[in-house]
Amino acid sequence: MTKQTNSLWWDLLPKPLISRAPIDSNKEVDVAIIGAGYTGLWCAYYLLQKSPNLKIAIVESSFVGFGASGRNGGWCSALFPVGLEKIAKNSNKETAVRMQKLMFETVDEVKKVADTESIDIEWQKGGSYSIARNQIQLKRAMSEYQHFKDWGFGESDFQFFNQAETKSRINATQVLGSFYTSHCAAINPAKLVQGLGQVVEKMGATIYENSKVTNFSPHKIEVNNRHINAKYIINATEGYRSNLPGYKRSSAPIYSLMIATEPLSEKIWSDIGIKNRETFADYRNVLIYGQRTKDNRFAFGGRGAPYHFNSSIKDKYDMHEPTHKELLRTLIELFPVIKDVKVTHSWGGPLAITRDWAPHVSLDFKTGLASAGGYVGDGVGTSNLAGRTLADLILNEKSELVTMSWVNHKSRKWDVEPFRYIGINGTLKLAWIADFVEERFGFKTLITNLLNKLKGN
Ligand SMILES: Cc1cc2nc3c(=O)[nH]c(=O)nc-3n(C[C@H](O)[C@H](O)[C@H](O)COP(=O)(O)OP(=O)(O)OC[C@H]3O[C@@H](n4cnc5c(N)ncnc54)[C@H](O)[C@@H]3O)c2cc1C
Repeated sequence: MTKQTNSLWWDLLPKPLISRAPIDSNKEVDVAIIGAGYTGLWCAYYLLQKSPNLKIAIVESSFVGFGASGRNGGWCSALFPVGLEKIAKNSNKETAVRMQKLMFETVDEVKKVADTESIDIEWQKGGSYSIARNQIQLKRAMSEYQHFKDWGFGESDFQFFNQAETKSRINATQVLGSFYTSHCAAINPAKLVQGLGQVVEKMGATIYENSKVTNFSPHKIEVNNRHINAKYIINATEGYRSNLPGYKRSSAPIYSLMIATEPLSEKIWSDIGIKNRETFADYRNVLIYGQRTKDNRFAFGGRGAPYHFNSSIKDKYDMHEPTHKELLRTLIELFPVIKDVKVTHSWGGPLAITRDWAPHVSLDFKTGLASAGGYVGDGVGTSNLAGRTLADLILNEKSELVTMSWVNHKSRKWDVEPFRYIGINGTLKLAWIADFVEERFGFKTLITNLLNKLKGN
């Protein structure tokens, strides 16, 4: 039986879990994909849909969904980590708006495929609230709303709710207002990745588990003392990319941690609201995010766990007690009515952040090397768009998707150590300080501007 992660989502999967054999001989395929998370699986899905005879091998060091795809917050959102201004600067205004609209459409595409392929992902498209809990956060909420309005988006996409309107929907403490988008669904992320794995196998792809790629070069990957020759090789390793030879500084593995409560009573939920399973966050600098699960728990997460020297990744880093405690404290601060409930699960995992916080989809036709990732914390929806785009690139289709500005985008490398360690953990400390000052003294520090600069905005 496949090993599990600590995440709530794995506990909720129907048992027994599927396990797949490792690679045991050399292979020759059209497309070899490294990593069986959403990116790799979506790419295989769209390739096989358009070209059913392709021979595809997906090589996974652990098991399908072991990475962020099986343990995330379950926000299937239209969030894209690059702002409209920056996209427009690299292309033009129309492309920036179109990219945002493609992200809207992507949320619905995930649902469409889940329905078509009969994958029950516990989908509920209730939208998402970014709540404001002090005056500075309120200004951020209003300016985010105004920003999208200025770019021509309407009330069906984004809304601003005042204090009373917000409280009637999500009864968090100190709420002053909220920014709302309808383009977000709450899902069970592990059900999506497991379901996709089974679907692409039915379509003809082969998945090898417990098969760690130790090296790859044009048309060849090395794994378990075997090799796979392929016309195209796709690097879909996201948070683990920096472990691959030659990729150490391509992205930084930043840990995001989560907790889940026991299922909460109807009485508690009638106090809290979130009736339509809307996801929620606020405007603090050290990000938090939450959802009401289908079985009526809170699944709640946030950043704040330390970055580890030289981009080190270890299972034990998923369990950082101070961060898990802080998450619970924050959740109770938001919704004191849950102060006596049990936390049933604590987990975490790495996601990938590039030096300019920009994701990419790329293909080098000469070498056949392709890649997608760098989604920061917004990969549930974005990986679907990436998979569709990669498929079009590989099949040489001149679609709209391959004209978007993230195609073949190159982020500069992260700094060498110890500057990377000092920079990332220093930034994290500054974000905590900024939140403390904003909350306690009610004024914005220059730190926030600095943080935005560091994010490339
Ligand atoms: C705690 C947490 C919460 C998050 N919450 C959200 C959210 O609510 N909404 C959202 O949009 N995004 C969220 N994200 C981000 C999102 O989950 C990811 O962006 C997305 O899952 C990335 O999918 P992927 O397939 O690119 O990467 P992954 O799912 O990480 O898959 C990469 C796979 O590659 C495998 N691999 C790595 N190295 C090798 C190798 N050498 N050989 C073979 N296989 C290898 C790994 O085992 C892994 O299975 C969150 C991430 C985390 C960690």
